[in-house]
Amino acid sequence: MTQVLVLNCGSSSIKYELFEMDEGRALASGLVERIGEAKSCLKQTSAECTSNPPSHVAEVAVPHHRQGIDMIRRVLSENASFDGGRHLVGIGHRVVHGGETFSRPTLIDDHVLAAIKGLIPLAPLHNPANLVGMEVARAAFPDVPQVAVFDTAYHQTLPRYAYHYAVPQDWYDSYHVRRYGFHGTSHQYVAKQLARHLGRPAGELNTIVLHLGNGCSASAIRGGVSVDTSMGLTPLEGLMMGTRCGDLDPAILIHMGKEAGMSLAALDAALNKQSGLKGLCGVNDMREVLAMEADGDGAANLAVEIFVYRIKKYIGAYHAVLGRLDAIAFTAGIGQHSPEIRARSCSDLESMGIAIDPALNTAAEPPICEIQTADSRVKVLVVSTDEELEIAQQTLACVRDDQ
Ligand code: AMP
Repeated sequence: MTQVLVLNCGSSSIKYELFEMDEGRALASGLVERIGEAKSCLKQTSAECTSNPPSHVAEVAVPHHRQGIDMIRRVLSENASFDGGRHLVGIGHRVVHGGETFSRPTLIDDHVLAAIKGLIPLAPLHNPANLVGMEVARAAFPDVPQVAVFDTAYHQTLPRYAYHYAVPQDWYDSYHVRRYGFHGTSHQYVAKQLARHLGRPAGELNTIVLHLGNGCSASAIRGGVSVDTSMGLTPLEGLMMGTRCGDLDPAILIHMGKEAGMSLAALDAALNKQSGLKGLCGVNDMREVLAMEADGDGAANLAVEIFVYRIKKYIGAYHAVLGRLDAIAFTAGIGQHSPEIRARSCSDLESMGIAIDPALNTAAEPPICEIQTADSRVKVLVVSTDEELEIAQQTLACVRDDQ
């Protein structure tokens, strides 16, 4: 038996998932949240299906990440299949920003930690929390190889003209301003699943992946390689999201600074936390937005119309980028679960060879399902993403490469 543990450390939470790698099966998963608050919380799901409600919830004081990881280690020790960690061959850490330094999963050592630290200016909220997780896990599991898997790495293949912004060259040279893209493990996993399902080598397929969750991003994948993606220097650019604005005329910031006296911090909060679906109709959960729209709410209707219009624009743009388009994949919370958003995003695209079959769309089942009409030239698929499994697989490959 070969096991890999995946850790995703946020500023006040640690998610974990233990995989049995021979079958790609989750053995245990859970979450420690509200770390540092008076009432922290440990949620465990010991069954295979991590989307189940947690099987065990405990309120405990977890003052810092070190204790959170200790708690996870203790919880795993009680799990018979963990067997004292005897089968654990690696720990994979999700790291949000790898900048231009990291284009592949990387074994963690002191130099790697220092390089990730150097990238903090590019991800000031995420990379510090990821680093704490890596440092604490190294101390807790000193004999287990640890691997950093970067959200940005898959998009390091973008050509120069796709990742450069048309701003003074010094912004790139001195401040590393460029498109990095995010959700890389999800885009990569979905592209692989799609190729496997279609029975064709990934290297032959041109695909658009639409990751539509609370955060949303699109990518253009040529022959298994990311050639463009909608998120940019940060995960704010591109598609409209739950609370993020997506594409925007940058002069709007200058205008709001001058006219409304908004500070940089206020603009940051407005664009990241008070925009998108939430900014337009007050809620960021697409299920609620769709229910409000069905009840005749005009603001919700506008929010959904903008949401699907922007997806459609990216489909058109990336179709042009790829030339020949073989498949479109919908994934993540909204992409996997909302037939309505899928249908509206792909409406009236028959002239581009894209048509969804309403019955197949409504009946789509995980983990992967084709929903295009019989005469649609482009295949349209609903694919369940699994970023943790992808991190586990990349971790295992990285550990084995090193042996
Ligand atoms: P994720 O970030 O991938 O967990 O996705 C979260 C988003 O998926 C939220 O906006 C949810 O409202 C949305 N979502 C989940 N289930 C559904 C559904 N059945 N219909 C529409 N949106 C959904």
